Amino acid sequence: MSAARRKLLHMGVECDVKRKRLRFSGENIVNAADLQHYRRLLLAKRDELSATRDEAAALVPPAGDSEGDLMDRASADTEAELQVRVHQSDAHLVRAIDESLARIRRGTFGVCESCQQPISKARLEAVPWTRLCRECKERQHA
Ligand SMILES: [Zn+2]
Repeated sequence: MSAARRKLLHMGVECDVKRKRLRFSGENIVNAADLQHYRRLLLAKRDELSATRDEAAALVPPAGDSEGDLMDRASADTEAELQVRVHQSDAHLVRAIDESLARIRRGTFGVCESCQQPISKARLEAVPWTRLCRECKERQHA
């Protein structure tokens, strides 16, 4: 092998190393200021969810209220059932948000749980409570 080729190969390796490091230290790395930003996003979303939950709770008539005719009670039941279903998906999201806040505290926020690669900032901005990068999320649904 010529010296020139050896040098080329060496450079190639160096480039690879740099590229790999770049994936972790480049644009995608979440710094302390970013963490604060995502934390605020998460807390705001959680507040928003608990606010809608309080509103919904106020709309649902208290259980055991047997006044009113059957028709009224039937529609009230349907409405209550609908609210319960809304609550369930909200609760799911609140749990995801709480887990993300815990990941911020542990320092593992912004890392895909499946492939351990950084999740893109664009994705974190849109869904800061996500546990998976876009590729893994898509694979999950494929
Ligand atoms: Zn992934």
